[in-house]
Amino acid sequence: MRSAMTLLEELLPEEFNTKEDVLEQLEIKEKEFYPDGIAHCHYCNGEDIVCLEVLGAGDGPLFWLCQGCGELHLMKGPRKTRTLLKKAYGSFTNPKTWGYNSSEDYN
Ligand SMILES: [Zn+2]
Repeated sequence: MRSAMTLLEELLPEEFNTKEDVLEQLEIKEKEFYPDGIAHCHYCNGEDIVCLEVLGAGDGPLFWLCQGCGELHLMKGPRKTRTLLKKAYGSFTNPKTWGYNSSEDYN
């Protein structure tokens, strides 16, 4: 099985909202998860599947990524996946947060 690595920013929509369900925003429709892999994509039936690791989201891959249609399939349970993803986006540096505290705003 080939593997790939990505930044969470690459997967999430630009308007990502940390208060809403991260899996919904990743457009993961399935509740099922597949610790042992999937033989083919459940959307396009493609067999070109790689395991995808998200930087900062724990050790090891989180998803099965279909190279054909780009759909993600869960490797771990939804709750576990949310917890691990939260670790990744919790470490984002938000430039707006920094700008907000700029001393120039108070002059
Ligand atoms: Zn597919």
